[in-house]
Amino acid sequence: MNTAAQSAGVLSFEEAYEVVRERCRSILEAGDRHGKEVLLVQALKRVLAEPVAADRDFPPFARATRDGFAVRAQDLADGMMTLRVVGQVRAGDSYDLPVASGEAVEIMTGAAVPAGADAVVMVEYTERKSKELNHKGHEETQRKAENREVIDADDHILDIASHHKPKPQENRTQKEDCIEIDIVEIQRAVVAGENVVPPGAEARAGQELLPLGTRLGPAQIALAAAAGKASLKVYRKPRVAILSTGDELVEVAEKPGPSQIRNSNSYSLAALVTESGGEAVQLPIAPDEEGKLTELIQEGLKADMLLLSGGVSMGKFDLVEQALKALGAQFFFTGALIQPGKPVVFGGAGSVPFFGLPGNPVSVMVTFELFARQMVEALSGAEPSRLKSASARLRKDLKTKTGLTRFLPAMLDGGLYGPEVEVVPWQGSGDMLAAARANCYLVVPPDREKLAKGEMVTVVLR
Ligand code: AMP
Ligand code: MG
Repeated sequence: MNTAAQSAGVLSFEEAYEVVRERCRSILEAGDRHGKEVLLVQALKRVLAEPVAADRDFPPFARATRDGFAVRAQDLADGMMTLRVVGQVRAGDSYDLPVASGEAVEIMTGAAVPAGADAVVMVEYTERKSKELNHKGHEETQRKAENREVIDADDHILDIASHHKPKPQENRTQKEDCIEIDIVEIQRAVVAGENVVPPGAEARAGQELLPLGTRLGPAQIALAAAAGKASLKVYRKPRVAILSTGDELVEVAEKPGPSQIRNSNSYSLAALVTESGGEAVQLPIAPDEEGKLTELIQEGLKADMLLLSGGVSMGKFDLVEQALKALGAQFFFTGALIQPGKPVVFGGAGSVPFFGLPGNPVSVMVTFELFARQMVEALSGAEPSRLKSASARLRKDLKTKTGLTRFLPAMLDGGLYGPEVEVVPWQGSGDMLAAARANCYLVVPPDREKLAKGEMVTVVLR
């Protein structure tokens, strides 16, 4: 008989989840962690042991967000829709003269908007032309496009021409005393600031970009790279011992006898631990015998966290809780009203948290996702993430029984605007094929015995 199960409780899913979160929070706060330097390329999924600050303004200059023409918005507000193109600035270049009234600078996305200009007109709303001026003031305006159709100059061009000052970008034509200048017709006005990100709008030099404890994904790594960090100080990964128990188990490379099965849980758990930022330490299979089991549990408790698989049900040979109890472990719960995974156990031995996960392969994965993942994250020094959930339309009627919150292997698809979900066919908690076909768990609340086709349901993403 399981004495531990009587001393700690069987909780609802929500209660059990909150108990784990509470422990995660205190572990995160109490953590005495050490950092080490790793190359940026090795930093994926690691947790920052020191904050990353901006080494300069982000962006460092007024950045054009479109290809087009840098202009003074006031010119356009004043009705001056034809401007003289006085230069070009490409990404990486600078245009050093201030843009004066009546002028525009051709600009590419990502380039620095020159002083004087305060907006960028998208190239789509412009028409580039060239105009020749001769010494008598006769002028022609031509489209720069292939058909070079001759069009009349308008008042503004005359106006610009009369204020014309030679600029370095001008092309003097072969014809004596003729100057060819570029002009652009603006078809849509812009307001000041349009298509420009001002310097420091994202962050000021010295400002914290990534706080201590940030878990590094691709976007965070990009930010660190932009701030010039070729290496980062990250926390040591927590070591998570994995101990599969069961007399029926053989190692993967061994040939199982007729009633034996291979130990797959140590592998699903190692993969889940690695994915959540821990270092998996696989222990040898523990038999359903208290002496050897205790020895291996003691070995496992040398790590930062221990995950046990199997041996937590009410059977005669389910000895995990008993062995842990004999080692002085504390139990925070000894079951949760969920399916699969009802016999899940959570506790601590000294400062080492442990989970006893029911041995069925789907139960192991579901209970890891629901409870253990956040603990690995907290031990890594990162804020433990909440369950990732989404809403989707149910594809087929579903019948269950009330009393347990169910997390059924399911397939979510249907694109961005109409996600749909359907449980995958399964033979119960031992059906690994079902788990391998699924990409989420469909949540059935404990008070529902039927979910109807077409209703919106919640899924937990993996
Ligand atoms: P238990 O929770 O110990 O009662 O285990 C329940 C069932 O899960 C067992 O009968 C096995 O079929 C299966 N099982 C237990 N441990 C493992 C393991 N490490 N790998 C694969 N299947 C397992
Ligand atoms: Mg067992």
